[in-house]
Amino acid sequence: MLVDHTATTQDKKIVDDLFFDRTPCQITASDEDLAALVHDVELPVLLAALAAVTGDAAYVPETLRPPITPVDTAPHPHGGLSQEQQDIARELGLSGLRRLRDMGAVSATLLSAELTDEIIDFISGGHKEWAPTLHHELNVSQQGAGAPRWHADTFLGSRAFDVLVVGAGVAGIAAGHRYLQAGLPVTMIEAASGIGGTWLKNKYPGVRLDTPTFGYSYSFAQKSNWPNQFAQGGEILEYLEEVADRVDLIRHIEFETKLVSAAWNESTRLWDVVTVHGGITQQRQFAAIVSAVGQLDHPNIPSFPGLDTYQGQTVHSQEWTEDITCEGKRIAVIGTGASAFQIVPAIADAVSELVVFQRSAPWMLPAPSYHEPMTESFQWFAENIPNFAQWYRLWVVLAGIPGRFHTVTADAEWQGAPYSVSAKNQEVRDYLVARLRTQFSSRPELAEIAIPSYPPGAKRMLRDNGVWAEALLRESTTVVTSGVSAFTKNGIIDGDGVEHEVDLVIFATGFTPSDYLDGIDVLGVGKKSIHEYWQGDARAYNGVMVPGFPNFFMLYGPNVGGVVAGSLHFMLERAVEFSLEAIHEVLERDADAIDVTEEALQRFVSWVDSGNRQMSWGQPYVSTWYQNSGGRVSQVWPYTNAEYFDATEKITESDHLFL
Ligand code: NAP
Repeated sequence: MLVDHTATTQDKKIVDDLFFDRTPCQITASDEDLAALVHDVELPVLLAALAAVTGDAAYVPETLRPPITPVDTAPHPHGGLSQEQQDIARELGLSGLRRLRDMGAVSATLLSAELTDEIIDFISGGHKEWAPTLHHELNVSQQGAGAPRWHADTFLGSRAFDVLVVGAGVAGIAAGHRYLQAGLPVTMIEAASGIGGTWLKNKYPGVRLDTPTFGYSYSFAQKSNWPNQFAQGGEILEYLEEVADRVDLIRHIEFETKLVSAAWNESTRLWDVVTVHGGITQQRQFAAIVSAVGQLDHPNIPSFPGLDTYQGQTVHSQEWTEDITCEGKRIAVIGTGASAFQIVPAIADAVSELVVFQRSAPWMLPAPSYHEPMTESFQWFAENIPNFAQWYRLWVVLAGIPGRFHTVTADAEWQGAPYSVSAKNQEVRDYLVARLRTQFSSRPELAEIAIPSYPPGAKRMLRDNGVWAEALLRESTTVVTSGVSAFTKNGIIDGDGVEHEVDLVIFATGFTPSDYLDGIDVLGVGKKSIHEYWQGDARAYNGVMVPGFPNFFMLYGPNVGGVVAGSLHFMLERAVEFSLEAIHEVLERDADAIDVTEEALQRFVSWVDSGNRQMSWGQPYVSTWYQNSGGRVSQVWPYTNAEYFDATEKITESDHLFL
């Protein structure tokens, strides 16, 4: 359970953070330096961290609770504390830092339940409904968080219960860790030659997170020394490798091994699984399967006319390899989604000509620090106050609970379609449009092209520090909005009949996210195929379980992706914990398997559908990869993380069948 090399023996039983660090901190800064430092810190985070390290709740008074003012486009400093509250909080923080300096060397400790409750109540502005989620994410209290509170040894005896985890990306690593903690025999297979999933594959120029780094880590592996505010792809891969190393996961993984098929055997009540490695197929049995195959994995390369006649180089963003060069080349990028948004600015300098094929313009949220390292003052706080970075991580996760839902929720009476879905949505639109007009002021005709013709939030909103506009404004860049008509030997003919001769075409055309479990035959009870059952409309209870597929659990399955709110890791971890709890129930009942009822699935789907219908991405006039070919939003979770916590909190007996 624990690879904390610094924890005491007593704590080893309860620390559930692989990066929990007991190295003593000792403040030596002068009063003057401390006074400067408190001007560059999120005050609620500082006060929470001071209360935790001193054990003194006086640092988290009710009068200084942040209101957690809803975020329209960019976070409010200090969660929306008034100027007067900020002044008082700063003084309190400063006195706390002096006190900490006088205390000498101090180390992180696990907190009592009472103190944790008090600090969480403070930092969340009294939102008690978020408390269970925040406890889960903070994970520094003696209450523990997502770790299983049971061990398979209690149940198994001579009984086997082998689990197959398919995929060793962000979700698979979480599953592997938690399942091993529970003492279950785990085999992992991974089609690639290493771990990391999307972060192993995506090596295109400019790849990095487009959400804040501190919201993108496991609750059980809270790294504090991230170098960048929006981590680069390689940094995330290193983190995942370190996590896997700390839990000794690699020896459980069979690399370059693919799942071909899985069939539920009704007489053995096991899954008959076929895998392939190096052309050799293998058949084996497992009691349960956890699918962590990822969602954005299968490249979408549209079948453009004449594509096979093109004699230049082509590459999909996900298939970028290090030997591909851009220097001096004429390059076309097709697509202006999240991947193109990072590629285009990263290569614009190097190319001789850049042609960007834009079908729909992206919405961009201001993020001035998008390419910035963590600030020096942040590093100071992280190094000098025990667990400061954990509190900061919690702050980021906390802000993501309400997220920006209020900006994308549709008002049935609103008349602004197809440009906006509510007065607030229109306000955000106006603000972002004004920003675009300023960025493109030297070429107003380009501003018109850069303004999306759909409501903010209907597609993923990107983080912008101005480099996108700079890249499009370059003389060497042409933005084409007439579409791709056909490929020729030398390039692409656009919708206006103009040929663009290029040396390299980059397909930043996304993936086929609706095709869950694509390429894998999954046969459940009565040899029912999961793909036939879904008919192109993937549905799963809590995004995890499908009726008729006992002991088959999906991670990052249908309808659990957050887009304007929430933490990916939280959703994945909760899905893992939910699946483990399902297995716990099976073992406790001495049953073989758990299934979910059709009624429970229908109820779940109706619930998420009604949520999605109220969002900008659920409007009938928008088109987005969040919807499947039938038009249903099958990717997105329309509620808060706190609501997913509740949904996955326990196995509701009436929703399940035990075999
Ligand atoms: P995407 O968001 O689906 O964007 C694909 C782009 O290609 C869109 O602009 C789309 O236009 C365009 N396109 C698709 N088919 C086309 C066609 N036939 N002709 C012309 N244009 C076409 O894909 P992505 O950029 O790879 O991103 C996918 C998801 O991956 C993101 O939403 C995000 O969740 C994740 N991602 C995350 C990060 C990060 O965190 N750093 C980075 C990259 C990706 P339309 O918009 O008109 O459909």
